[in-house]
Amino acid sequence: MGLLALGTPLPWNEAKRYADHVRYHGITQFLHTWNRLKERQGDELLWGDEIEYMVVVLEDAAKSARLSLRQTEILDKLSRIVDNISSECPKSISVPTFHPEYGRYMLESTPGSPYTGSIPDILSVEANMRYRRNLARKHLKSNEVPLTLTSFPLLGIPGQFTEPYYDPVGAISSHSLFLPQEITNPHARFPTLTANIRQRRGSKVAINLPLFVDAKTPQPFVDPAIPWERDIYPEDSDAKNGAALADHIYLDAMGFGMGCCCLQLTFQACNIDEARRMYDALIPISPILLALTAASPVWRGYLADVDCRWNVIAGSVDDRTDEERGLKPLRNSRFRIPKSRYDSVSLYISNDWKNRPDYNDIYTPYDEAIFNRLKDNGVDSLLAKHISHLFIRDPLVVFTETIDQDDKSSTDHFENIQSTNWQTIRFKPPPANSPIGWRVEFRSMEVQMTDFENAAFAVFVVLLTRAILSFHLNFYIPISKVDENMARAQLRGASALGKFYFRKNVHTQGNSGPSSGSASPVNGNGSHPVKEKKLRNCFPAPPHPENGINHEPVESEYEEMSMKEIMTGKGTNFPGLLGLVSEYLDTLDIPTDELRKINAYLDFIRLRSTGQLQTPASWIRDFVRSHPDYKQDSVVSQAINYDLLVAVDEIERGVRSAPSLLPKKYRGGHADQGSIGI
Ligand code: GLU
Ligand code: MG
Repeated sequence: MGLLALGTPLPWNEAKRYADHVRYHGITQFLHTWNRLKERQGDELLWGDEIEYMVVVLEDAAKSARLSLRQTEILDKLSRIVDNISSECPKSISVPTFHPEYGRYMLESTPGSPYTGSIPDILSVEANMRYRRNLARKHLKSNEVPLTLTSFPLLGIPGQFTEPYYDPVGAISSHSLFLPQEITNPHARFPTLTANIRQRRGSKVAINLPLFVDAKTPQPFVDPAIPWERDIYPEDSDAKNGAALADHIYLDAMGFGMGCCCLQLTFQACNIDEARRMYDALIPISPILLALTAASPVWRGYLADVDCRWNVIAGSVDDRTDEERGLKPLRNSRFRIPKSRYDSVSLYISNDWKNRPDYNDIYTPYDEAIFNRLKDNGVDSLLAKHISHLFIRDPLVVFTETIDQDDKSSTDHFENIQSTNWQTIRFKPPPANSPIGWRVEFRSMEVQMTDFENAAFAVFVVLLTRAILSFHLNFYIPISKVDENMARAQLRGASALGKFYFRKNVHTQGNSGPSSGSASPVNGNGSHPVKEKKLRNCFPAPPHPENGINHEPVESEYEEMSMKEIMTGKGTNFPGLLGLVSEYLDTLDIPTDELRKINAYLDFIRLRSTGQLQTPASWIRDFVRSHPDYKQDSVVSQAINYDLLVAVDEIERGVRSAPSLLPKKYRGGHADQGSIGI
């Protein structure tokens, strides 16, 4: 999660003095990039995934599953090993990279070099993920496993949940009642982020997740696991004074959120405009794929009534003051800010005609001076608004050594603000001193328990981005409706039971989509479509409709749909996201065997979206509720947790079947070929 510059981080009362300095130079740095690269053209499709893992220690005799805090040692070993393995790496896979993450039990991995749009590359994703997992596994202790779990079920329970044990009384950065200091990556950036968020906010973070009330859950539920009378830090009385709600799971530290794992994908675009179109189109998709990948129903030892991590992380890094949150009139703070730094996108930014001003319909504070400065330097209003909205935030971590930078060659100050705006989609300007172009990062998905599922979602999303660009798909709905979908996506069973706002006609006016006639992506000369051999970039902007733009009222452009309808289609006009992806595949020239392999991933996604296969969240919930140790009281015990995590590991390896979660053919992580024999 961002840069790991080394240096001496300033405590909040000193860091805040540099806020304007960092913002000013951050904008100067952005303007240098903008001036240099706004006209840059022709970058090919390069893309990648990021997978976050938890390292878990399984003690079979004690039936315990705990978080291993050996991140530093493990990363050290992996980086040395990675330096030496080039020769043993299979030809098709370049040496992967492992990165630290917030939790001291977490690892993150990325492919060693980006995937291209070639079909063999698309089909190498799963093997690449598996290779990375197995590499990590190989260099762990024999009782440690790398699990792709979104939330660790017992994080913050009374007693031991880490290996080794640490007492939460020493939580000097977060002041948590539950999480020890040692849960956090010791690199200066992470404890400083934690402490500075708390200090800027003026209190500890506070998250209350609704509890899943089961047959024997005491009502009202007053959590016996909260040390109500603790008196070490000034905030210790917060819980008693109303911060912890009855019938909820109370979480009070950054680690509960940033200690979660996700699956992220980044795509390079042809140029800045293509990146802006892709960014906008993915905004309404982000809650849909959050619901479809839901994987986190257990928190601090209790079943929750939500299935996703999103609001937990949002709350866990919410550094807004009382004034910014609207609890007090504005006196010292500059803005009322409706959202946390980690939250959904608030503004569409594409400058093509499909982006109607009506879609940006929520209050989005922005820094006017920054906005004007950007405009004066030639940045258009939409992009200027986006950047000046991100820049209402203060930098949270300022290192003394890097306060003064060469704004022509560094983008550190820009990245300081940019990388601590954790939104569902991130628009990424090219980094300094690098050949990389304009990129878009898709950030909402929960990590799946198997690499087969993670690969399926990666393949689906990359294909969807191509369908979006080549067919000029129009997914716009008002941002307020996207936000409503974000809330709905996290509810228990949302994928199977929920409804989401979605656009009825996704084909751009004046350019009837493939499903209504013209069957190819724009091919330049209007002649017979030539089938492409690979996924590519550089599609022209949507052509202006010849007879002028004919807008319906915004409210009649969308309706509520089920997940099944969104994914597999509704009526004659909307073929569903999977339908659009298939139509896009029809424009490619792919050998039958390879098409079959791609379709195996899409079939799995279809089964998930129709409810024929469960989300990981539903599967985990059912596992807990049908465990012999479960007392129907919402409590997930050590024994249940152990059995669950052993099952997750065995399923990933293909040792245990999970027919309600995975396709029947799934063979698991040790298969040489793809895990379902593809
Ligand atoms: N782990 C965070 C999540 O689950 C993301 C951190 C990052 O941006 O890498 O969303
Ligand atoms: Mg990460």
